[in-house]
Amino acid sequence: MALIACHDCDLLHHYQPLANGEKAYCRRCGALLYQQRRDALPHALALTLTALLAFLLAQAFPLLSLEFAGRVEQTYLISGVWALYQHGMGVLAGLVLWTSLLSPLLVMAGVLYLLLPRYVGWQPKYLAVVYRSIRFLRHWSMLAVLMLGVLIAFVKLQDLADVIPGLSLALFAVALIAYSAALVQFDAYPCWPVQQEIDSPVSPATTARASGLIACHTCRLLVPRCDAGARCPRCRSALYSRHAESVSHTWALLCTAALLLIPANCYPVMTVIQFGRGEPSTILGGVLHLMDSGMWGLALIVLFASVVVPVAKLGTLALLLISTTRGSSWRPADRTRLYRITEVIGAWSMVDIYVVAILTALVQMAALATIEPGVGAIFFGGAVVVTMLAAQRFDPRLIWDRLPQREVSAQAGAGELQHAG
Ligand SMILES: [Zn+2]
Ligand SMILES: [Zn+2]
Repeated sequence: MALIACHDCDLLHHYQPLANGEKAYCRRCGALLYQQRRDALPHALALTLTALLAFLLAQAFPLLSLEFAGRVEQTYLISGVWALYQHGMGVLAGLVLWTSLLSPLLVMAGVLYLLLPRYVGWQPKYLAVVYRSIRFLRHWSMLAVLMLGVLIAFVKLQDLADVIPGLSLALFAVALIAYSAALVQFDAYPCWPVQQEIDSPVSPATTARASGLIACHTCRLLVPRCDAGARCPRCRSALYSRHAESVSHTWALLCTAALLLIPANCYPVMTVIQFGRGEPSTILGGVLHLMDSGMWGLALIVLFASVVVPVAKLGTLALLLISTTRGSSWRPADRTRLYRITEVIGAWSMVDIYVVAILTALVQMAALATIEPGVGAIFFGGAVVVTMLAAQRFDPRLIWDRLPQREVSAQAGAGELQHAG
């Protein structure tokens, strides 16, 4: 019997071969189980190479140029990192460097490392290690958020001076599109065979755990339950049925993030000094200033990314933790969906940090105008990182574990797959 376990709720499904372009979703929680895409390998390779080339070239040309009182200042993609470092904010500079340059580069290098040998018929070494690293790093690779940050900085500076977009902006847009498309193709390419033959009679209407199995977190191999510390026989990754201490670790990270958000909102994130005048402004102060200047669209984007997203994320994770601990059977599929959204939107809060970095790099005109980063930005960056770690620490399968078994079977039906073209 060929079986596959759902990544998000652990339910077992019969494996069925798909036609080109089809996807199979979990019957219970709606997670994508596997998909069939012809030529995923060459497409992923071509797109990754395009993205890498465009991204490297984008580093070499000016991103934005600022004309102000006869002077021209240029900024590059990397300038923000340097500017933050020069203002004594090494930690924040490191975070920007990590999320806007190193992580994307490592993800692209990893994809090439895995797929190039496969393309010519070789088997790459350290397959599982590189695959796990790509999966971890892509959460921290925030090219789309950086693009939004550049666009916000561009609009924001319009009332200060003439801003001219450089060649790097176009190259960066190409890199971003190719990178996103490459990861879609990479996800469709199975690094290991998807299905798994099980000898023992296992009902596909139960979870892997209830059937005495553990699904490997990396290659998804179904292995009979074993002692702690055991390794997957196929990819040598550590095997565990659930994240140990998932709930307590997530709570700890959540409380840390909530505490960090207090100084992040009380201390200024940025100081704009024009003709010797200006005062530090907090996140909310910046939003109000944008509203006063009539930039309502921009104010709403900043408000959403730096106030609504962090608070909503903390609230959602707290709700998930409380309902999971209490064994609530309230809308488990919706709670799993809510978790997936939380995991994705967290990175967008980084946009504020990118805006501060870009503005600091671009507006350094001594007596005329300068923009300096504030200490609040460090706390805010810390809160974003810790909230992301909290979301990654939570194990969504816990939502389903505490449900009464009767409901599992009723909702699981016969364990058939839904196909979508
Ligand atoms: Zn599921
Ligand atoms: Zn494995």
